Amino acid sequence: MKLLLLGSGAREHALARSLSADPAVDTLLALPGNPGIAEVAQCRPGDPTDVTAVVALARDEHVDLVVVGPEAPLVAGVADALLQAGIPCFGPTAAAARLEGSKAFAKEVMAAAGVPTAASRTCSTATEVEAALTATGAPYVVKEDGLAAGKGVVVTEDREAALQHAAACLAKEGGRVVVEDYLDGPEVSLFCLADGSTVVPLEPAQDFKRVGDGDVGPNTGGMGAYTPLPWVPAGLVDEVVRTVALPTVQEMARRGTPFTGVLYVGLAMTSAGPRVVEFNARFGDPETQSVLARLETPLAGVLMAAAQGRLAELPPLSWSPRSSVTVVVAADGYPAAPVTGGVITGLDDASAVEGVHILHAGTRQEGDAVVSAGGRVLSVVSLGDDLADARARAYAAAGRIGLPGSHHRTDIALAAQEGRVHVPTAHTPE
Ligand code: AMP
Repeated sequence: MKLLLLGSGAREHALARSLSADPAVDTLLALPGNPGIAEVAQCRPGDPTDVTAVVALARDEHVDLVVVGPEAPLVAGVADALLQAGIPCFGPTAAAARLEGSKAFAKEVMAAAGVPTAASRTCSTATEVEAALTATGAPYVVKEDGLAAGKGVVVTEDREAALQHAAACLAKEGGRVVVEDYLDGPEVSLFCLADGSTVVPLEPAQDFKRVGDGDVGPNTGGMGAYTPLPWVPAGLVDEVVRTVALPTVQEMARRGTPFTGVLYVGLAMTSAGPRVVEFNARFGDPETQSVLARLETPLAGVLMAAAQGRLAELPPLSWSPRSSVTVVVAADGYPAAPVTGGVITGLDDASAVEGVHILHAGTRQEGDAVVSAGGRVLSVVSLGDDLADARARAYAAAGRIGLPGSHHRTDIALAAQEGRVHVPTAHTPE
């Protein structure tokens, strides 16, 4: 098979690593890729949201499957154009990607499909927001309707702050906000592969959004992740497939916009059971780095089966019982104002730690040097016998990486390792 991968982050490096290790793949192209991806794929310059250019490249290169990493090309309609050109694509059409692109749409689909989620109201005016905040009470959760690169959600005890955020969102053209009930409880990310009708779940993971240890400081794209989750109730994955992913995929098919790709289900484990916090229409970064580290089934065949509507024919996926921890190394000043252009050292030393591989995100090759080129610079990914072992390996490797001013969290998976993550009250899946 000849594959084309779109994107340039550590998530895409993880995908590239797994795809290139699949014996069924003879050629892997990446648009645009990064210096790490270049070690396992042929990188082509260009913009993955340029739909015409993507289709032309896929056609000229006789690509068998295009795998879309980030959301931007999906929203731009890359999957639609590839399907029209008869080229299989792993990733939803623009209409199906609205599950991520519009929170109001996602809520409407969830309501129609009977999916458990926070009660919500979609508001177009300040008066509606006032009424909704009064109805839900504190803590207030106000979400911008459209894609907001992780900055659209405010969770606050302060009614004024909630109103201000809503006002800023409503001031945009066509601006709408979703006001919803606060969901208490630890979060789980569950990636569900979908082919329009069948759902195949991957292993659940947890990510760490705040920049600082102890979940303090501003939100980021994600500072680390781990899998498996020793604290989730047995049967959670089956329950979420049955009550969330399948009904959602069936509802999308019923509407004539079948969903193909990854339905990323973000859950809060509340005392009343799992509740959907958000949907995304693609793999999550950094959870993918750890989830794929444990996947033993060759990936390309699985993604091809999803793109071709053949997931039901697949044998069950095979998973390593080992634990994986991902630690994100971020640039000085991230997330507010990342400093780029710093020389990165110690990559070989870090990779030499047994069970560890280093994935590139915001890096650039400059002569012989690799320099930082973005906020999240590297993902350090480990496999270990348990979370303690995986943590030890990841942090040993992270300590060998040099980049002036860089920072990483030191508590990824620590609470889980120490048995300090709890679902509010015992929830037994039905
Ligand atoms: P979202 O973009 O919808 O995933 O929201 C971003 C983050 O805000 C989530 O990862 C949660 O940590 C938090 N969040 C979103 N919705 C809620 C909610 N209803 N209750 C509590 N926290 C929430």
